[in-house]
Amino acid sequence: MASSQKIWFLTGSQNLYGEETLKQVDSQSQNVVAQLSEGLAGDVEIIWKPTLKTSDGILQAMVDASADENCIGVITWMHTFSPAKMWISGLSKLTKPLLHLHTQAGQSLPWGTIDMDFMNLNQAAHGDREYAHILSKMSIARKIVVGHPTESSVSTRISNWVSACKGWNLSQNLKLARFGDNMRYVAVTDGDKVSAQITFGMSIEQIGVNTLVDRVEQVSDSEAEKLSKEYGELYELAPELMPDGDRRESLVYGAKIEIALRDILESGGYHAFTSNFEDLGTLRQLPGLAVQRLMADGYGFAGEGDWKTAALLAIVKRMDSGSGSSFMEDYTYHMGPGKPKVLGAHMLEVCPSITDSKPKIEIHPLGIGGKEDPVRMVFTADPGAGRVVCLVDMGSRYRLISNEIDVVPPTEKLTNLPVAHAVWEPKPSLQLSAEAWMLAGGSHHTVLTKGVAEETIQDFARIAEVELVEIDEDTQRRSFEKELEWSAAYYKLRGSVQ
Ligand code: MN
Repeated sequence: MASSQKIWFLTGSQNLYGEETLKQVDSQSQNVVAQLSEGLAGDVEIIWKPTLKTSDGILQAMVDASADENCIGVITWMHTFSPAKMWISGLSKLTKPLLHLHTQAGQSLPWGTIDMDFMNLNQAAHGDREYAHILSKMSIARKIVVGHPTESSVSTRISNWVSACKGWNLSQNLKLARFGDNMRYVAVTDGDKVSAQITFGMSIEQIGVNTLVDRVEQVSDSEAEKLSKEYGELYELAPELMPDGDRRESLVYGAKIEIALRDILESGGYHAFTSNFEDLGTLRQLPGLAVQRLMADGYGFAGEGDWKTAALLAIVKRMDSGSGSSFMEDYTYHMGPGKPKVLGAHMLEVCPSITDSKPKIEIHPLGIGGKEDPVRMVFTADPGAGRVVCLVDMGSRYRLISNEIDVVPPTEKLTNLPVAHAVWEPKPSLQLSAEAWMLAGGSHHTVLTKGVAEETIQDFARIAEVELVEIDEDTQRRSFEKELEWSAAYYKLRGSVQ
């Protein structure tokens, strides 16, 4: 599906320049697209469209881009002067993310040979300013990237935006299955699902847990044994879960949960799901291994009915360039000595995409929920830079919060910890990160990602028109508090935006 996704490249000009010049505009903008495509990572293609010279042409291009389900974003460039009143009706119809590339055909000026023909052809320096004026006047959200298409900073910034477009496209079409409701009395995992659909496009739907229970019961022993064999090839198995082990049946039951869950999600066209350990019906185990395997395949998930985090994980996974993303929860702290750290984990459900090591499948008691011991993959997240991100419902609006982190090795080996986990040092420090996070109302459930740039998170927030609160190396206590106050005032003035 991803390979069919396109970014449209629209070049602005006008008929005033005459046929000869406009031919040069065409070929130069085609060249810009070729140069951009070379620097673009991933599987999304940039498609050149014929130069736009009239109001009618611009309107048609914007309507077409908006209607084309394979178009996930639009890049515009005013190669020459394209009077911006011509763009008003078209821009008002555009429903896709917009990037304004401020560039020109040649990187350097040919100082010694410049004449008025050159000046008449290379006018983006003022053409783009005329266009940007109308975008600002119409309050149209867009990303502006300045520079020559061969510069790596330009391709990086455009690649980051394309990733955000992929995430936004998924968000617009996202279907989430909730097995059970939210954990009783928990505030932050709850929220307004109708507003979420208006803001993000995502459809949050409930499926009775009995649907899952029934489907698990229909899975044959041979089918589940076949998948269990696959587990043995892919992962290390605890001795009691091996084919001749005395707890093999628990692994086979875990495989049945995976087969059933995968079938429900695939046949329903779902991209994300939640479970709730309080509401498992007659399911014998809390889904652990199954959830981990499905997350590794790109499904969003969060526990305790937390549909916002589950949806966010699906979106983040779509934006991930390959270093991994997982459901996560700040679990417990190392406050010292040495640099303070967070030990993150969940009851079971951490995605193995955040390690390159071979996970081990183990079985241990859960100590909560009163069910049979669940099977789960156990591993430690690989070190590296990343971020934890959450989405909270503030009542009148959604807020994204992102905190830069360094995933680090555990200070000592966690030999007795029977769940997958990650250890990280949040920026600028555990003290200030936790203070800022809690001041912003951030959740204990997060998405931990090592494969999404902060700029992509910024681009996604701008496209979705939701608030983004960032905590990083530059965060300072007093200015952060002020930022939240100004932001609250801004959203109050802007009115109900959901
Ligand atoms: Mn939890």
